[in-house]
Amino acid sequence: MDALIMKDDIAVRDIQRCIGCGLCISVCPTEALRLELREGALVPPFDRREFREAMVSSLQRAG
Ligand code: SF4
Repeated sequence: MDALIMKDDIAVRDIQRCIGCGLCISVCPTEALRLELREGALVPPFDRREFREAMVSSLQRAG
């Protein structure tokens, strides 16, 4: 994504390019990175069960 750029030896994230995948966190050697939930952002389902429940709930709301 080229969302991280270096400025004076500090990694800076370009929020327009970052998709929040978290890969940079898993490879950061100093564990200096973390993801924070954006206000109003939807939390993706944790597993298939939660996904199925979300789909059923959405379909029930839609009628
Ligand atoms: S969360 Fe993903 S897209 Fe965003 S900076 Fe890290 S690796 Fe790049």
